[in-house]
Amino acid sequence: MNIFMPIDHLQRIAKPLLPAGPDDWLSHNIEKGQSKEQYRDAVDSRPIKLPGAIYLYPYFDSTPFEEHLMQVAAGFLTDYFSVSVRVSTRPPEPKLTPYNKFKHDIGCGKRVASKDILFAMRPTRDGLPSDHIPSDGHAHILVTDYDLWYEPDDQDDWLFGLAGGDGRAVVSTARLMRTHSTECIDFARFLKILSHEVGHTLHFAHCIDANCNMNGTNSLNEVDLHPIELCPYCLRKLYLLSPFNPLNRVSRLIATLTDIGVDLTDDYFYLEKRLLETN
Ligand SMILES: [Zn+2]
Ligand SMILES: [Zn+2]
Repeated sequence: MNIFMPIDHLQRIAKPLLPAGPDDWLSHNIEKGQSKEQYRDAVDSRPIKLPGAIYLYPYFDSTPFEEHLMQVAAGFLTDYFSVSVRVSTRPPEPKLTPYNKFKHDIGCGKRVASKDILFAMRPTRDGLPSDHIPSDGHAHILVTDYDLWYEPDDQDDWLFGLAGGDGRAVVSTARLMRTHSTECIDFARFLKILSHEVGHTLHFAHCIDANCNMNGTNSLNEVDLHPIELCPYCLRKLYLLSPFNPLNRVSRLIATLTDIGVDLTDDYFYLEKRLLETN
């Protein structure tokens, strides 16, 4: 029996890639896509330590809401990628370069260069002591309320998140609010960005096969139009990485996301579950 059969059946529910508007990611970035063979090559050339854990590092002042956010994130990622996820302690404050002293009143919090934050997670360099990074982790994800900028002096060069290509990534909640209040972080937006960046640490390239969480994103509008779920083609890559029970996975995700009030109406989950139950 073809062990990919249940996953392959899902390809019929793939939704077409949305046409790119003038401000959208694909109007500004050339993407080549990534076949499952290319994905396998990427995993073979840079092996992922499985079974290993994804470590989440809170990088904001600890409040009951932020602690809840990290627990929600850990539970969601566990179900999504079928790996263990651990919430670590807040790392030491990184040494920030002068432009990080800028504070721009755009309602998004302190501006910081994403590469500085990633440097801060590099053992032995300016930040984390080497014993702060656990050896069993295959991905280390910093979650911060700093507003991330690739080039802090460029007016348009902000980011929702960035993956460093070596298992480190940073995700910002600064632009993911429903209103300018920390406790109004939109869970759907946050979990999309978080799982997208974790996907990069697992060697997923940007997807151009379908409407998918691994599509590139330039704006909140694009974030909102992308699903939380991986498209069927990316789901098949995930299965290549580490086989899972697809019906159990989708059922758990529906339960977790419904529990925190995320509207799944336009996402893949219900279609996916129905198809898996009937095949
Ligand atoms: Zn990306
Ligand atoms: Zn995809």
